[in-house]
Amino acid sequence: MHGIQTPAGSDAIAPDTTGLNFFSADPSLADLLQLYLSDKLYAHIAPHLDRLGALAGDHLDHCARLADKHTPVLHHRDRFGRDAQWIEFHPAYRELERVAYGEFGIHAMSHRKGILGWPDTYPSAAKHAFTYLFNQAEFGLGCPINVTDGAAMLLSRFGDDALKAKYLDGLTQTDMARLTQGAQFMTEKEGGSDVGKLTTVATPEGDHWRLTGEKWFCSNADAAVVMLLARPQGAAAGTRGVGLFLMPRRLDDGSPNRYRIVRLKDKLGTRSMASGEIVLEGALAYAVGKLDRGFIQMAEMVNWSRLSNGVKSTALMRRALHDAMTVAHGRVVFGKRIVDQPLARRQLMKIMLPVEQALSLCFMTADALDRAEAGSQDAAALVRILTPVLKFRATRDARKVCGDALEMRGGVGYIEEFAPARLLRDAHLGSIWEGTSNIVALDAITRAVGRHGAHGALGADLHARLNEVVAIPQAWRDRLRTLVDRAIAFAQSVAADPANEADARRATTTLYHVTSAVMLAWEGARIHERRGDARRMLLSRLVVDHKLNQPDAFTLNQRRDAAALEEMLLGDTAVPLSQAAAHLQ
Ligand SMILES: Cc1cc2nc3c(=O)[nH]c(=O)nc-3n(C[C@H](O)[C@H](O)[C@H](O)COP(=O)(O)OP(=O)(O)OC[C@H]3O[C@@H](n4cnc5c(N)ncnc54)[C@H](O)[C@@H]3O)c2cc1C
Repeated sequence: MHGIQTPAGSDAIAPDTTGLNFFSADPSLADLLQLYLSDKLYAHIAPHLDRLGALAGDHLDHCARLADKHTPVLHHRDRFGRDAQWIEFHPAYRELERVAYGEFGIHAMSHRKGILGWPDTYPSAAKHAFTYLFNQAEFGLGCPINVTDGAAMLLSRFGDDALKAKYLDGLTQTDMARLTQGAQFMTEKEGGSDVGKLTTVATPEGDHWRLTGEKWFCSNADAAVVMLLARPQGAAAGTRGVGLFLMPRRLDDGSPNRYRIVRLKDKLGTRSMASGEIVLEGALAYAVGKLDRGFIQMAEMVNWSRLSNGVKSTALMRRALHDAMTVAHGRVVFGKRIVDQPLARRQLMKIMLPVEQALSLCFMTADALDRAEAGSQDAAALVRILTPVLKFRATRDARKVCGDALEMRGGVGYIEEFAPARLLRDAHLGSIWEGTSNIVALDAITRAVGRHGAHGALGADLHARLNEVVAIPQAWRDRLRTLVDRAIAFAQSVAADPANEADARRATTTLYHVTSAVMLAWEGARIHERRGDARRMLLSRLVVDHKLNQPDAFTLNQRRDAAALEEMLLGDTAVPLSQAAAHLQ
């Protein structure tokens, strides 16, 4: 299920993905987009995705390597000895920005009509196809793109007309001279997960507020428009007393606002992008929306970012898989290509499966978000549960997938001149920001299931998909139905009793795997209807075998048809339903 042609390497070292078009090498992306987008929209974006795929596989990847090596530098004074703060970025990072914001306008696709010549705004499913391709080359800038997008969303949803008139245009500009990037500063030393403990104070002054305090993790540190949380003087303790504010980097007269970037973080990954520590010294800010609903409003940006994080981790995994497949096809060991060695084939399958699972969940969630925004209550409940489920599992899988793909390249994989080392470093961030794994699993189980009852919408959706497509063999359909009911019941039982909280991660994982097993079968059936290839359905079988049923440690972990499944899934030839159905029992 790939479109890898073997690119040239040196005589002795396996080739890398340089020159690979990440769009045409990824038939699953095109297949899923055609399930979720209208024919007209797909036809419109396909050439743009093709161009981005080619750029990501070459030029952007080259820029990403440079930007990762030449990290941003914070300056506090200009050459005349005047106090002035700015961050110096390598030209490669500026080029990445130009392509993301200026050429493709990914940050503006949800807000501004006319991006890439499309007369409307884009649905999330289309926007995130661009996110996914771009992040396969550069993950660091993925954060600023997303927070600029998220800041525009918060402002358009909750800002008053004057604030919108002042800041929305800049946040959604594709003209680089007029673009004003966004940021989101919540985390303080006292609390990242426990946001209610934040100590930044907002004091009213005329039509605006003054902020005093410290923000501890501020990505895109020099952004022009910052969305942040602060406690208005005298407001209640905890998250209920927290307000949402917009803080501009520059005041109306062009002078700097009263806050200082104290230093930049020396990070494991996303090294191209500047994350700073910031001291607020009476900074001017404007209240956004209702003051006593600051946390609830900010949660919309957090959820928006969690979907984006899921997509970006999927991108890292896909890139890692591309690299592993390229090596496996391009290097000969013990007289055979790596891809022809049985143990390596099994390992490649283990790398591939989480990528395809995550891609399914990304599009399912993005599509539900689009339907929720069009007014569907069921879809809103679906988004409520799918977002943390996706964020939890996909970001965790990315760590392992990127590490395993790195190993496929052998010792060279560990060397920073090749992409896998960077992918692995970046992959470890996904499960930390916008909520660590524990926090996100608790959100899925305690809140989405326990408080909001969102599991009902998920169960109904998955059953409806199983009823909808006829191509899924009956026995497999029944098996999946049973698994859906069991996963929902397990999540409910964990949510029902605080004593079960320690099982929240397992319950989230089970929901993820069962959801992906149904989605892979449903998508596979739909793809089979369109172009006679049922391979995606077979992945559903692998999820059940390897993710939901633990193998016995004392017996061969091999069903008799394992080699046949590998042959079909590691190849690039379509498989008819008649052949696939025999493996879905
Ligand atoms: C590179 C980078 C960039 C970042 N950029 C930004 C940014 O731009 N804006 C921003 O606001 N933040 C940003 N963050 C901060 C990030 O969102 C927080 O670090 C994260 O939310 C965790 O908060 P914390 O660091 O305070 O850890 P803590 O909240 O102290 O967590 C420590 C550990 O305790 C666990 N834990 C906490 N509560 C519970 C619980 N109830 N049950 C079980 N376990 C629990 C956590 O899972 C974690 O393992 C960034 C972080 C990094 C690393």
